[in-house]
Amino acid sequence: MHPNAEPSSNVPPSPDTTVTGKPRILTGDTPTGQLHLGHYVGSVKRRVELQDSHECYFIIANMHAFTTRVDQPAEIRRDCLEIVRDYLAMGIDPKRSAIFLQSEIPAIAELTFLFAMLLPFNRVMRNPTLKDEIKVKNLGDNYSFGFPLYAVGQTADILAFRPVQVPVGEDQVPHIELTREVARKFNQLYCGVSDQAEDKDHDRLGGVFPVPEAFVGKVGRLIGTDGVNKMSKSLHNAIFITDTFKQIKKKLGQLYTGRQSMTEPGDINNALFQYVRTFITDADRVAELERAYAAGDNIGDGHIKVEVAEAIDRMLEPMRERRREYEGDDETIIDILRDGSARANAVTEQTLAMAKEAASLGFFDRELRYR
Ligand code: ATP
Ligand code: MG
Repeated sequence: MHPNAEPSSNVPPSPDTTVTGKPRILTGDTPTGQLHLGHYVGSVKRRVELQDSHECYFIIANMHAFTTRVDQPAEIRRDCLEIVRDYLAMGIDPKRSAIFLQSEIPAIAELTFLFAMLLPFNRVMRNPTLKDEIKVKNLGDNYSFGFPLYAVGQTADILAFRPVQVPVGEDQVPHIELTREVARKFNQLYCGVSDQAEDKDHDRLGGVFPVPEAFVGKVGRLIGTDGVNKMSKSLHNAIFITDTFKQIKKKLGQLYTGRQSMTEPGDINNALFQYVRTFITDADRVAELERAYAAGDNIGDGHIKVEVAEAIDRMLEPMRERRREYEGDDETIIDILRDGSARANAVTEQTLAMAKEAASLGFFDRELRYR
């Protein structure tokens, strides 16, 4: 296909065709609050780097936010807009990358239903990330039917784009594994791909879905300021990109290491040193801090925390400034989402047509229109 050609909606193209001719990636976030440092180092930084070499789609998974906040629709809507502001602040360029709303992509909902049939119920419930979320978010056994369904939905979020790669934090790897299983199963059941085929060969052998790979960056799991759990929007242990230097310093001050004095040898694998290695960019300084800390050479946790806070503040300053340009301007943000959703629908409608055809559900062509 010509690099800039529009995909035609009714003719299923070969599975590796993209709008721009570049390999595709898909990833995104649930609007459960603003984005934090964990998102940046775990996923968004990589997305920013891939914008030129890849055709990028970033999903705001707003339907999935309803799994835990069904009584807060207005807050979810607000968080969608805030996350777009965070993306723009972190360097995502909406001209190159499509930022879109999950709720505006009907193909995702349709594929979710189809994929739910391919996965044994107990296989979904065994997903360690789901189990962990049920525990840390105190959901007990009162979670909705939709809660575990979101794990199936996420396989559809991803496969609807037939991407080659999914840049995510470590906690998402089990979800990507589930996605890979769905892709293999679908291709075997409906596209005649042998169960002996290697993952990398699935699309070449006629599978609708390439078997996508998780890409976990250098910091796959940034610990929160509680020093224990993953930094998470829902756990009140996050440093947000809008935080001021004072707030950053205060939050880091709470990070407990258990070390008693400046002369006690410290553990350079603790949470504080994950921050040192992640945010202090001068490698010599990092090495010196590690040496002094391990030796208990007159260096206090408080001092290191201030140095880390300064490094984080330097990184965030240009982001906070960019973000201010979009504050209060919902129209611009909604325009970005409208444009991104239209681009996402162009791809996902194509995927859906291919998947329906393969599963003998291809009765008619259809065309979606936005008013
Ligand atoms: P929630 O508490 O609502 O689950 P979250 O903070 O875990 O929110 P998600 O929307 O679930 O954020 O995750 C979005 C992306 O950011 C995923 O790829 C996830 O792996 C990554 N991510 C989130 N938190 C971290 C973290 N602390 N370290 C590294 N990556 C992270
Ligand atoms: Mg999460």
